[in-house]
Amino acid sequence: MNPLRAAFREYYALRSRSIFVPRIDLREIMMVTFDGTVIRHVSVKNLESLRAMLAREAPRHAYYSVGLYERPAAKSMAEKGLKGAEVLFDIDADHLGVDECDYGLAWRCKSCGESGDGAPPDACPKCGSRDLERLDWLSEGCLEAAKREAIRLLEILESDLGVSGDELMVYYTGHRGYHVRILSERFLGLGKEERRELASHVSGLSFDPEEVFYVKGSVLTTPRVDEGGWRGRIAREMLQLLEGSSGGKTALPSSVAERRGELVRALGEGVPLINPTRALVRDLRRMAEEIVQARRVRIDEMVTPDTSRLTRIPNSLHGKTGLRAMALSPDELRDFQPLGDAVGLSDDQIRVFTTAPVPRFRVKGESFGPYEPGVGVDLPMFAAALILLKGRGVIP
Ligand SMILES: [Zn+2]
Repeated sequence: MNPLRAAFREYYALRSRSIFVPRIDLREIMMVTFDGTVIRHVSVKNLESLRAMLAREAPRHAYYSVGLYERPAAKSMAEKGLKGAEVLFDIDADHLGVDECDYGLAWRCKSCGESGDGAPPDACPKCGSRDLERLDWLSEGCLEAAKREAIRLLEILESDLGVSGDELMVYYTGHRGYHVRILSERFLGLGKEERRELASHVSGLSFDPEEVFYVKGSVLTTPRVDEGGWRGRIAREMLQLLEGSSGGKTALPSSVAERRGELVRALGEGVPLINPTRALVRDLRRMAEEIVQARRVRIDEMVTPDTSRLTRIPNSLHGKTGLRAMALSPDELRDFQPLGDAVGLSDDQIRVFTTAPVPRFRVKGESFGPYEPGVGVDLPMFAAALILLKGRGVIP
């Protein structure tokens, strides 16, 4: 057996107790094996069967549905009979536009095997082929950025929807992101449109600055601190800025500073502000825009409305890293360090032959690399897996 698959199997044999899926009998299960076979439309009666299946197949990827079905193993959605679906939010570092997420980027030519650092060139400098593979990597800075999004998402779900703690399932995907599922009964029956609204709410897209600071005649209506959602959040943050500015900490636009007292009463008590200048309205709307930009959560908006999605089985191994798709409580999320805490594979030594540049990296507190292409290195399995699964090495 491929030593990597053997290492996955060892994990599933030793750690099967950590595999947990609520209401497993109503889920569709999907697995992708190490030889690329897709096992679809499978269901299991209980957790024991799922754990046994994982230990037997030792798949490269293992997924379960957000949907709860009458007949989860049926071949079509119509036959499956959707009973309800958890609301899923997907945070993927690739969508965050964070520079650190390009750390260790490399490429390899699929025709001749030439490789190099950075983004792939248009054509291979050695053989001219245009069939080049883009090879990404993991970095702590990139994963931190994704985690910050997840933490903001939990804050918004709690403050705006009243969803918290045991109504949620949060987990690291095992790669470059986080998933958050709302498990609570009251959300299971939501339709696509309502899910789309939830996605656009958390991502701040439903926000319109002209509605939040609204002028009619000579009266400016502002949001108030005791309101829910984005209006309340904007009001509270602005009030803090206004109150903080008396200590000279924040520079307010002069149009806003001049009317500070009136704005504090408007935001705090809802006393309308009379005769606002055009500059004042413009500056307030701009400040609101900045608050939303800083607080919004950048999720993949295509994912949330889709009730037929599958995501990784919590605590299963990710086939691009060998890391655990680790289930976390909201408290655990804050201190969670993926490249330490999510290591699931053993430290048995294995020899790897690199086929592309490998950047310097840290896993489980140990530093590895950088390695040139074409060298043999002896590594613990958890570090070797990253190189192998990221397509930068082979077992000789
Ligand atoms: Zn080439």
